[in-house]
Amino acid sequence: MNDVILVVNAGSSSLKFQVHEITGVNDLSFMLGGQVSGIGGGRPSFRVKDGQGAVLDDRAYEPGQVPDLSAAQDIMASWLQQRIPAPPAAVGHRIVHGGQRMTRSVLVSQDILEYLDSLVPLAPLHQHNNLAPVHVIFEHWPEIRQVACFDTAFHRTQDKVVERFALPQEFYDQGVRRYGFHGLSYQYIAGRLAEILPEVARGRVIAAHLGSGASACALVNGVSRETTMGFTALDGLPMGTRPGRLDAGVVLWMLEQGMGHDEIQDLLYNRSGMKGLSGISNDMRTLLASEETSARLAVDYFNYRVAESIAGLCVAAEGLDALVFTAGVGENSPEIRAGICRRLEWLGVRLDETANSGNQLRISAPDSRIGVYVVPTNEELVIARQTSDVIHGML
Ligand code: ADP
Repeated sequence: MNDVILVVNAGSSSLKFQVHEITGVNDLSFMLGGQVSGIGGGRPSFRVKDGQGAVLDDRAYEPGQVPDLSAAQDIMASWLQQRIPAPPAAVGHRIVHGGQRMTRSVLVSQDILEYLDSLVPLAPLHQHNNLAPVHVIFEHWPEIRQVACFDTAFHRTQDKVVERFALPQEFYDQGVRRYGFHGLSYQYIAGRLAEILPEVARGRVIAAHLGSGASACALVNGVSRETTMGFTALDGLPMGTRPGRLDAGVVLWMLEQGMGHDEIQDLLYNRSGMKGLSGISNDMRTLLASEETSARLAVDYFNYRVAESIAGLCVAAEGLDALVFTAGVGENSPEIRAGICRRLEWLGVRLDETANSGNQLRISAPDSRIGVYVVPTNEELVIARQTSDVIHGML
């Protein structure tokens, strides 16, 4: 068997992984992918599928049997050790924050790991988890090369004006600036468009990554010009449990009411967004199926704010040629895409109803001035490719 690359995406409630075989310097073949879900919750599970989608393993655990990320890592590591004969040639990690220094994927050294650790306060709920497996491998298998791939790096092409907040310089100097996230997804979309729709890829594109987390990004010739997420992954579009753009005065008001830091953090990361607005669920499918007025309000709010942000991003793109929907909601919900596009008809967006309801690649009507597309994202593939490029000295 050829060498393999292991891709790891460690979050607070799930640990996702993929194995790609290195079949050539520029060539990877997807072997298998799996995840430990429900970490720290009542119904942990472990599931792995091969490249054809056949289930290789599927286990349910007792409540409390996978209490934390460390337990999930043990499950993944022991499964991989039994199934994959040699250690991976490299491990590629999804790291949410690369700060000001990281403009591309890099081989992890002690110095880089210390820098990435120093960014934990900038993404408290993600960075620490993302780095946990990097530390474990560094400690136990120091000979394995590790590559860090960042959600922020793709946006480092943005203009200085776009990167700023209207705050005194000292805050910018301390790192309070718009970093942007979902960069691995937008990089995939930019590359995929270049493969399948090169004309579109060269133009002014706004891509909307609408999943549990949501953002939109203005791309010109595949380069990021502006994105809706900023200093943290709280800004921009409303999301499953995060509010998106929020007047900073609301947070001041909460402090004045006696709410503490942890309470506000929990509210903004876990109890707001679709979940907070509807009082029903953070899951878009549940809200779309509900007859409740609050569920309708949440869906309307989502569609309105996404459309409004897309219109705003046209300034950075200096116009608009194409709109791309991706991620869980963007790839699978004709209703949400239609709700957003209806609010952009004045801009020249018109959907083809049949193509939209079939989640087809091109969903705009033939006479639509703006092409509208559905392109499934694949962040793990970007990590695998970049990891391969780094270890082959091509990045
Ligand atoms: P993440 O990777 O950020 O956890 P995903 O990209 O998987 O999120 O998106 C999850 C979201 O996609 C959930 O809100 C889910 O309800 C939504 N979703 C998935 N399929 C559909 C569908 N057919 N219609 C509407 N929403 C969907």
